[in-house]
Amino acid sequence: MDIRIGIGFDIHRLAEGCRLILGGVTIDSELGLAGHSDADVVLHAITDALLGAAGLGDIGEHFPDTDPNWKDADSKDFLLHALQLLETWGLAVGNVDVNIIAEQPKLGPAKKDIRHRIADLIGLDPDRVNIKARTMETLGPIGEGKAIACQAIVLLGSAPE
Ligand code: MG
Repeated sequence: MDIRIGIGFDIHRLAEGCRLILGGVTIDSELGLAGHSDADVVLHAITDALLGAAGLGDIGEHFPDTDPNWKDADSKDFLLHALQLLETWGLAVGNVDVNIIAEQPKLGPAKKDIRHRIADLIGLDPDRVNIKARTMETLGPIGEGKAIACQAIVLLGSAPE
């Protein structure tokens, strides 16, 4: 049996003049996420979960935020790089479950688009990708609208021959 589980977490500050991209989907919002790359917390958390499940460290080791190569990078490239590494190790993604933690904007309407986008990027049926959105009930920096965080968990198994 070769089943591996991986967990990922990320948080970025909300700021004016930044785009809000979650799971590869651009979302209408007054504030966006600040970061060295495009600050897509969802793809960062999923990439970290994939690397973790494969025993390949974390996203910071592969894509240091001090490296000018990754300035304003499309986070899809991080995810695709991690998937390529999995392929060389003979591993395939079973399913992905995601918690997006944001006070604003309301993400209900975007969840379906995010689910399909992530399924597309990973090459999974959408029913193997689940997106949950929750608030912090106004508590703490996320509740005060200063940041958005994301948790992701993935299951890997041996790739089919
Ligand atoms: Mg990040």
